[in-house]
Amino acid sequence: MKKQRIGLLGGTFDPLHFGHIHLGIEMQETHVLDTIIVCPAASSPLKTTRTPQASNEQRLQMAQLAALDIPGWRVIDWEVKRSGASYTIDTVRALRAEAEKNKEKIELFLLLGEDALGQFDKWKEVEELVRLAPPLIGVRGQREGLPAGIPPSLEEICQKGRTRTRVFEISSTLVRDRLKRKLYCGHLVPPKILDFIYQHQLYFY
Ligand code: ATP
Ligand code: MG
Repeated sequence: MKKQRIGLLGGTFDPLHFGHIHLGIEMQETHVLDTIIVCPAASSPLKTTRTPQASNEQRLQMAQLAALDIPGWRVIDWEVKRSGASYTIDTVRALRAEAEKNKEKIELFLLLGEDALGQFDKWKEVEELVRLAPPLIGVRGQREGLPAGIPPSLEEICQKGRTRTRVFEISSTLVRDRLKRKLYCGHLVPPKILDFIYQHQLYFY
């Protein structure tokens, strides 16, 4: 049986925006991934300064609204359903266990934007994590090398996963800020998510 190539796209997705979708699509096409798994985190152990503004359930629903239309994309609720901080290593192990149970062969990759690497050395069991799921890192066009925060022992594998992408200058922070200021966001967020945001009056305060 052919190995399924899977990209795991984790994040807070508060809210999910075109930057996330763009990263996933570029990685899917460049690295010929069969599936992209979007996994909203309950709370990020490293984002200690603020908890997500939208609830776990709302961020999950927004991710589902976006992924529904995209071929090969799937959303898992495992991290939002587990209480407490979300650790990627636990999710990776659970995905491997699921595949084993279904007698499927999988090859996992971690999909990351450059900014997510800043604190990579602080991720739980990071050495084991990259062994089980080597990172594919979306890097803006011209830049050489990798950002700081990567443990020396992981430099080689991170370098290998460096993928040139046309990264959109969008962040959830920007989207939340614009919504609060009642500015147009249709160029940053898919229409279904924007409808959901208006319907539930998210991010307006
Ligand atoms: P926030 O502004 O709240 O930090 P964010 O937009 O960075 O939110 P996250 O949920 O923190 O979104 O990011 C999830 C993943 O998506 C991370 O790996 C991050 O690097 C990546 N990512 C976020 N925005 C972009 C973008 N515009 N282009 C490429 N990758 C992105
Ligand atoms: Mg971020």
